Amino acid sequence: MITLHQVCKTYENSDQKAVKDVSVHIKQGEFFVLVGPSGCGKSTLLRMIAGLEEITSGDLLINNIVSNHLQPKDRQLSMVFQNYALYPHLSVEENILFGLKVRKIPKAERQKRLVEAAEMVGLIDYLKVKPRELSGGQRQRVALARAIVSQAPICLMDEPLSNLDAKLRAQMRVEIREIQQRLGITMIYVTHDQIEAMTMGDRMMVLNKGEIQQVGTPLDIYNNPSNEFVASFIGSPSMNIADCEIDRAQKTADVGGFSIPLDGQISNRLQNMDIRIGIRPEHIRVSEQGQPVTVQSIEVLGNESIINFSVGNQTWSAKVPGQLKYKRGEIIYLQFQTDKLQFFNKSTNEAVLVDYDRKVVAI
Ligand code: ADP
Repeated sequence: MITLHQVCKTYENSDQKAVKDVSVHIKQGEFFVLVGPSGCGKSTLLRMIAGLEEITSGDLLINNIVSNHLQPKDRQLSMVFQNYALYPHLSVEENILFGLKVRKIPKAERQKRLVEAAEMVGLIDYLKVKPRELSGGQRQRVALARAIVSQAPICLMDEPLSNLDAKLRAQMRVEIREIQQRLGITMIYVTHDQIEAMTMGDRMMVLNKGEIQQVGTPLDIYNNPSNEFVASFIGSPSMNIADCEIDRAQKTADVGGFSIPLDGQISNRLQNMDIRIGIRPEHIRVSEQGQPVTVQSIEVLGNESIINFSVGNQTWSAKVPGQLKYKRGEIIYLQFQTDKLQFFNKSTNEAVLVDYDRKVVAI
């Protein structure tokens, strides 16, 4: 159980806060992801939890005990880094057991944990080889096994998959998640990759410029982003977002001359507000009853296609099933799912919360 209370970090050589007032409670056994663009403070936050970086202000509690000044080795945690941090002159077995030897764990116990961990990550046949003889994925598994044998109840991972190719990344996502669940470890996992965050996390924290944007389950964040930053960061292709004018009489939102039909009650509530409108690409479909748009380009991904089209002076995207063969410049008809539209306050960028059963919830 890890609690951060108004944690801030200012590096000595900087007058900017790298992490600002982060408060969160991470539950025991939870897979918790820190996600955000490069430079948003994810690693800094993780390193403060690890004890590798001093906390400028605020408190870190591990199991309800203030642990700001605890030595890293006393924090009951293991770490896995992007670069694996393996010793090249040691064998796989020696790398996995290094920390246990330092901690003077008896030999029989070390061997027992080694075999268990190596079997779990599929390295049992590679124990005597050196890291240079292994593939990137196998090296990552050595780092994982080293974390497993430590039996630390908390594991911290910093971009552990970013050196792997796409297929292996997808496989390792599943493996890490399985091992975490099997062992009941509390995991804090840093990534800039929103797909990792969405698929691995029980909950995630979206960060930008050192500040929390939103904390929640992946689906809650996907479905109800708290502001424009989260809405466009999570999801691929990004949510289409633009300034709009509400036309109450027509029940439409006008985006640079392009009209999007609205729910009547919502158009009443939103009129006279300075708002921006958003819709995810998968909530737009091709339909004769839709609005005419001009195709700019098509990306056919095999099972689905991305249609890029003009809205006002912007390019928006629709993600639709199938292999579409439209040509650039062609006029097609698109329908926007009215009950999936999102709205943002233009001056604060905060979401205007709309629940389509209860209409407007908060403005
Ligand atoms: P992320 O992991 O999200 O990419 P970091 O935590 O590495 O972000 O960095 C957050 C901010 O702190 C960035 O602006 C970065 O330049 C700054 N920063 C990171 N490490 C140091 C350091 N050792 N000294 C000064 N500034 C740093």
